[in-house]
Amino acid sequence: MPDHFLPAGFSRVHGELHVESLPLKDLAERFGTPCYVYSKAAISASFGEFEEAFATLHPLICYAVKANGNLSILSLLARLGAGFDIVSGGELSRVLAAGGDPGKVVFSGVGKSAAEMAQALRAGVLCFNVESAAELERLSQVASALGLVAPVSLRVNPDVDPGTHPYIATGLKNSKFGVAYVDALALYQRAARLPGIRVTGIDCHIGSQITELPPFVAALEKILALVDALSNAGIPLHHLDLGGGVGIRYRDETPIVLKDYAREVASRLEGFGGRLLLEPGRRIIGNGGLLLTRVEYLKTSPEHRFAIVDAAMNDLIRPSLYEAWHEIVPVSTNTAPTAVMDVVGPVCETGDILGSARELAVAEGSLLAILSAGAYGASMGSNYNARPRPPEVLVDGNRAHLIRRRESIEDLYRAELPISDLL
Ligand SMILES: *Cc1c(COP(=O)(O)O)cnc(C)c1O
Repeated sequence: MPDHFLPAGFSRVHGELHVESLPLKDLAERFGTPCYVYSKAAISASFGEFEEAFATLHPLICYAVKANGNLSILSLLARLGAGFDIVSGGELSRVLAAGGDPGKVVFSGVGKSAAEMAQALRAGVLCFNVESAAELERLSQVASALGLVAPVSLRVNPDVDPGTHPYIATGLKNSKFGVAYVDALALYQRAARLPGIRVTGIDCHIGSQITELPPFVAALEKILALVDALSNAGIPLHHLDLGGGVGIRYRDETPIVLKDYAREVASRLEGFGGRLLLEPGRRIIGNGGLLLTRVEYLKTSPEHRFAIVDAAMNDLIRPSLYEAWHEIVPVSTNTAPTAVMDVVGPVCETGDILGSARELAVAEGSLLAILSAGAYGASMGSNYNARPRPPEVLVDGNRAHLIRRRESIEDLYRAELPISDLL
């Protein structure tokens, strides 16, 4: 059986898949399945890789909370010095609950409500990444009403194609995100006149799972041209935020080498006196986690074989949503016959596929690991089909910490208010 690529933090020892020093089969015994398992060393190392590659630029690395907002993950990153990129008031609350510094938070997102703006202003976030003219006006009003001034970057759409899945390309001119490049200068001039706004920076984020440097370089060059135009118009900027989007290896991709990215950025930022911000999500945690699942049944139809497992699209929706590939490997090397099969979950949707046409040696009861599930895995989980969300476990050397318990069925209907006389 071919052994697949295993991300850092995971290894096979005498046929048994391990996370750091612990066999995954022991974690399955202890915490049950399905279960998310993360490597603390892998997450810390990915953050460290950003710091090291960009060291000469002293960037603020604002981890994108939406990739994985578990409080323990956030506090691990906060202790490593991370700032945070948030897209909702809920994510701000998570960052604060985890001990994150609001002064290192940038607030992105196209639909910030007045209440979320007020929450972030009171908390003292570093910057609002404003995504439309209407949002700018509202933010000025909300800040003025509170007697505060909102620090603002405009999220500018550089109109470059990141060469990624259309659902995760965000910097094209007809995208719902950001301000059109051609409108940016005028909107900055408006921002500079608004009483509740202090212009501090500029921001872009062109998409996700990007594995080529040219789109990042093209975006940076367009942003720098705008920085110059703004400076000539008497609007100096104090930071430049290049967003996230750096891809990882799921299958056979060749990810960007961060040092190469940093070199391209550094050579172009020489004339810019401000600070660099980055908003990586996936690259920090994607490869640092996996979803552990157990085969419930093997099923054969005339044309197809299925391994029906206890994890499903509600736990990990990326394959259903984006046809994303996650490597799936047996936890224990075994002697079951190898066959090509679809790995599917129990949810009542044809699209509930975790991996199609996988060559696997498994029997009923076998454990499987769905790799590279640290980002946009647990955070995109739902309770569809009344399925409690799985626990999350953070492994540190030979210690396993439960960082989210498995949901109970009562958790699922806790917020519901049955009208008893109708029932
Ligand atoms: C999602 C998102 C990120 C993180 O993207 P990754 O591909 O996970 O690095 C960063 N910034 C913004 C504005 C985002 O929406």
